[in-house]
Amino acid sequence: MSEVLTGGCLTGGCLCGGVRYRYAGPLGGPLGAVTVCHCGQCRRAQGLAAAVAPARAAGFELTQGADLVREYESSPGKIRAFCGVCGSPLYSRRVADPAGLRLRLGSLDAAPEDLKVQAHIHVADLPAWAALDDDAPRYAGVEPGRRSA
Ligand SMILES: [Zn+2]
Repeated sequence: MSEVLTGGCLTGGCLCGGVRYRYAGPLGGPLGAVTVCHCGQCRRAQGLAAAVAPARAAGFELTQGADLVREYESSPGKIRAFCGVCGSPLYSRRVADPAGLRLRLGSLDAAPEDLKVQAHIHVADLPAWAALDDDAPRYAGVEPGRRSA
């Protein structure tokens, strides 16, 4: 597993734009696999799966809206951080590992080009409607005939 270097600063934030951050450091690589998590907690927190990359807490800095960030302890010692206005997931962290963060990749403005999902985890928790190998058609935009957003 090669280290994914960001080659400078990545930026990201939440949907409403209230929370902004920057990150400099590895994503995944020596810190662990870049994963898509299908556990029941991620499904409830984020609608379906969570794309997550381990990151270094020391490289992460909130540049705007730190007062908007809310934290929820979803399991003992595991904290999920999100925007208190729009609900966007930002990262999770473990109290026992203050040096690490697990960044929610969907919050990045632009991910490094070499960043790839390396594993799907907790697939045993996938409900039947969310099968990974479904043969539902794919559309570049929304499905034909949609009437609302
Ligand atoms: Zn927000």
